[in-house]
Amino acid sequence: MRVKLISYTPDPLKTIYVAAKSCYSSVPPDKIETNDEAKMEKLIREIIKMGHLSILEHISFTFAISGVSRVLTHQLVRHRLASYSQQSQRYVKMKPDVVIPPTIKRGDETKGMFENEIERIYEIYQGLMDKGIPKEDARYILPNAAKTNIVMTMNYREILHTSSLRLCPRAQWEIRQLFAYIKWEIKKVSKFLASFIVPRCITLGYCPEKETCGLMPKKEER
Ligand SMILES: Cc1cc2nc3c(=O)[nH]c(=O)nc-3n(C[C@H](O)[C@H](O)[C@H](O)COP(=O)(O)OP(=O)(O)OC[C@H]3O[C@@H](n4cnc5c(N)ncnc54)[C@H](O)[C@@H]3O)c2cc1C
Repeated sequence: MRVKLISYTPDPLKTIYVAAKSCYSSVPPDKIETNDEAKMEKLIREIIKMGHLSILEHISFTFAISGVSRVLTHQLVRHRLASYSQQSQRYVKMKPDVVIPPTIKRGDETKGMFENEIERIYEIYQGLMDKGIPKEDARYILPNAAKTNIVMTMNYREILHTSSLRLCPRAQWEIRQLFAYIKWEIKKVSKFLASFIVPRCITLGYCPEKETCGLMPKKEER
């Protein structure tokens, strides 16, 4: 998996700060000025704590995500408040390139079983196209494990929401890994903004899952 932040709203802190400040100030937004990072962070921290989260929608991040499985992207695109552009299996001929889960990869027998079947699937895929079946129909044989690329643009509020769900240690491993990379990429731009990207138990102070991973106690056990 490769995740790269390819663009983001310029001056993200200032943009959020101006949006927040304009709600509580008689000064018009275009006249609100500050370069005081500590002051901006203080206000943004207070606003997040208060739950005035719409101000976070004014900044967004675009990620180039490659070499992930269709299992991952199927889960990812369920998050509706984002824009996605995914490699098309209708137009692009797929190579026999797949994501193998670590549980399968670590056993010689399971790895062998998996790889043999994948090989067979891609032989059939090619065989169908050799018989004149268009890519858009031959792809019906392809596995969930097939690697894909996707570009995603998400605003910061939705990044906090999706990360709160997908960074949970009990979330599915591949999407959890993606959100760990997303946090890492944002951290390169702003340690402050990255610091709010946490599993929801950290914000709640308890584990809302059926069973806790141990990171936080259950609500009733606090
Ligand atoms: C651990 C886990 C297990 C899951 N298991 C399954 C499963 O077994 N089967 C399955 O089908 N899905 C499953 N999902 C996907 C899940 O049901 C949601 O589709 C996914 O989390 C995206 O929804 P969201 O609430 O996060 O909202 P997003 O689409 O990310 O939207 C963000 C927020 O905007 C608001 N919003 C967005 N759209 C609407 C709307 N139309 N109406 C009202 N409010 C809206 C909501 O407050 C929402 O929380 C799972 C997700 C997780 C995290």
